Amino acid sequence: MRIGQGYDAHRLVPGRPLVLGGVTVPFERGLLGHSDADALTHAVIDAVLGAAGLGDIGALFPDHDPKYRGVSSLALLKEVVSLVKANGFTLINVDAAVIAQKPAFSPFREEMRRNLAACLGTDAVNIKFTTEEGMGFTGSGDGIAATAVCLLE
Ligand code: MG
Repeated sequence: MRIGQGYDAHRLVPGRPLVLGGVTVPFERGLLGHSDADALTHAVIDAVLGAAGLGDIGALFPDHDPKYRGVSSLALLKEVVSLVKANGFTLINVDAAVIAQKPAFSPFREEMRRNLAACLGTDAVNIKFTTEEGMGFTGSGDGIAATAVCLLE
């Protein structure tokens, strides 16, 4: 068994769609980034890579590479899962947490979960949502953070 953890955060800005777990959530601001800035999927990618000992998302998909501009992070996760499987690993489960003051994400939980599960090739995917009670950059709404752990065999 191998465990990996991932963390990511992106800034919330006007004029961008808010994409998390591959779901576009209606909100007046969205996450800023080179790709779709899907912080949840990025944290999951880093957890999977970490468990396999294969580095991190920035090394695999450089944010200065025009190829990845606006790319769906679910496509990157699929690529990572293929790589990890090619290295002889089986994915056991993923557990993730999104840290955001607003908006309320729980109505979108199952859709996000299904998106990630489809890429990961296992239904053992759990997503949690929490706030930091107004504290820090997630509390002020400056950004959204996500963490994830992944177990491989
Ligand atoms: Mg990121």
